[in-house]
Amino acid sequence: MDTKDQAFQQCINPQCRSEFDSRQVLFKCPQCGDLLDVRYNWEAIEVPKKLSDFANRWTTRSNRLDFSGVWRFRELISFCADEHKVSVGEGQTLLQPACGLAQDLGMNPRSLFLQYEGMNPSGSFKDNGMTAAFSHASMVGASASACASTGNTSASMALYAHSSNIKATVFIGEGKIAYGKLSQAMDYGGHTIQVAGDFDDCMRQVQDVCTELKIYLVNSLNPFRLEGQKTIMLRIIEGLGWEVPDWIIVPGGNLGNSSSFGKAFAELKALGLIDRVPRLAVINATGANTLTELVNDKGLRWNNGDVDQQVIDAYYANLDATHYRADTIASAIEISRPVNLKKCLRALDVCDGVVLDVTDEEILDAKAQIGAYGLGCEPASAATIAGLKHLLAEGTIDKDARTACVLTGHLLKDPDATVNYHSKMGREFSNPPVQVENDLQKIIALMK
Ligand SMILES: *Cc1c(COP(=O)(O)O)cnc(C)c1O
Ligand SMILES: [Zn+2]
Repeated sequence: MDTKDQAFQQCINPQCRSEFDSRQVLFKCPQCGDLLDVRYNWEAIEVPKKLSDFANRWTTRSNRLDFSGVWRFRELISFCADEHKVSVGEGQTLLQPACGLAQDLGMNPRSLFLQYEGMNPSGSFKDNGMTAAFSHASMVGASASACASTGNTSASMALYAHSSNIKATVFIGEGKIAYGKLSQAMDYGGHTIQVAGDFDDCMRQVQDVCTELKIYLVNSLNPFRLEGQKTIMLRIIEGLGWEVPDWIIVPGGNLGNSSSFGKAFAELKALGLIDRVPRLAVINATGANTLTELVNDKGLRWNNGDVDQQVIDAYYANLDATHYRADTIASAIEISRPVNLKKCLRALDVCDGVVLDVTDEEILDAKAQIGAYGLGCEPASAATIAGLKHLLAEGTIDKDARTACVLTGHLLKDPDATVNYHSKMGREFSNPPVQVENDLQKIIALMK
């Protein structure tokens, strides 16, 4: 089967809509500079008649592509031949019922679910995207890859680059990078370059470096990467017995995840594979709340693709003028210039979405609550539950609404944040160690 004719790239700007071959390596439209989508000629693809047909692949999971939680949905991400598909067993993730947590939040105990993406090979959801990006990189014969990263992108890139025999260079800023993540990129043999600037500076530099040196960029600007992330939504639907939830909640950083979720639901609806689209809540940290300010305060909307660029330009000019630097404990979402902003606005339009921001205190309290029920996650992921509390309180989400929160990264990514929280007395959910003399009776007394 020639996948060349099954997929192509298309500019998201309705004034432009330029199309490009799927073998071209682009991360912005060469005509107008806007973002690109992967599009499919669906009539050339044998898409299963109903989503539950994908469940048949569980019986053939000795086939590595059927085992992958991404590629078992391969008809919905059909841009490269099977021989190019790179997999390290990503997407073996759980939709976990969260009854206890739901009760703590005053929800119906059967309504809340946690989609635990920390169970991926590199410990974050990024692997869903990286398997797709590196499959495309293999298809086009790339020999070197690069990304700007707050940590998880680099960990995932270095892992997949290793499996595809492609060189990997990571650009990190001077800001926060959790050691769990940095250690992965180094251990997997990635070449790490620390730029004297923040994530947003790295993001700008890496784009120019990749253009100049013809290096394959794996940030979420890469439209092929986002195709893999669509499968997080497919697995949530799968986990609900092939039913669509009422709400999806996801943290928002560079806004690649939220963008890919919106694209997934738009495609599934158009294909007749779902009959309704869930609502989407994207949660920022207060210290990195560009999306929240643009949508809630400035009224920015997708507007059929005619996004008001002046509002965005004025907002960024002000960030420059005030030397604004994003600042949050949730380092994975410490981003003030989200590259997928317009695609996220489109996702909010598709999913009748809402956005809001939560403070670092709220994030850390929510993180401890999630952890207390035995899953655990890194700070950025806990923004989902912190956001859910607001949405329940204001009545946007009903206590009976089936809600799936995406826990984007593993607890062990950022042990400092966890230990610091629990070591301090007086935080609402802190669980500090108790000191005791090296004396049996005193130890036993403490155990009673
Ligand atoms: C990358 C990342 C995010 C942010 O996702 P975007 O797609 O950039 O919005 C959130 N949480 C974790 C753990 C991440 O690694
Ligand atoms: Zn264009």
